[in-house]
Amino acid sequence: MTRKPDTALAQDIIEACRWMNASGINQGTSGNISMRCGDDMLLTPSGIPYDQMRPDMLCRFPITNDLDTAPRGNPSSEWRFHQSILYDNPAVMAVVHAHPAHATALAVQGHAIPACHYMIGAFGGADVPLVDYALFGSTALARMATQALRDRSACLLANHGAITTGDSLARALWRMEELENLARVYLLAKASGTPNILTSQQMAEVIEAFGSYGPKT
Ligand SMILES: [Zn+2]
Repeated sequence: MTRKPDTALAQDIIEACRWMNASGINQGTSGNISMRCGDDMLLTPSGIPYDQMRPDMLCRFPITNDLDTAPRGNPSSEWRFHQSILYDNPAVMAVVHAHPAHATALAVQGHAIPACHYMIGAFGGADVPLVDYALFGSTALARMATQALRDRSACLLANHGAITTGDSLARALWRMEELENLARVYLLAKASGTPNILTSQQMAEVIEAFGSYGPKT
């Protein structure tokens, strides 16, 4: 497999950020995206509107377990959880973070998303877990999110937003879009009755049937 030069990867990340805002998944500059780049990672900068972001503004720094030493440059305030997740799971190539309205509404209510729909299986288990509240950008948030994403490819962050991962940027983005749609469906179902939740046996069948379901890029 040929590896894209950094500039091309950075451009992919910028386009993904712009797509998140255009699709309504994210607002303003609250979302951030990282990608593995050999032993390093590329991460969106802090506070730059996506339409003004250029490839040379992205931050590149080594993937280590050191969450005390801030990377040089102007990395997203959430550099700790991006770095920690990429360090912890070598299969993860991209990490997407956003504040999608419906997923965040559930996170504000303190709800994980149960198996209300078979597509929950796209995240690797029978629910999308909720990470306890911790200050944005903190080491505590990074450690808890990393733990939650050991056996899942999505989690909610209490009173904050959501994170998805993927073995490609396309798959991580696809999961964020799916997560927000499922959160919307679950909220609608809760608002008009009592959702029926799939059993662990039904979800085990779904996860087995999924295989490598999702975008192939
Ligand atoms: Zn955030």
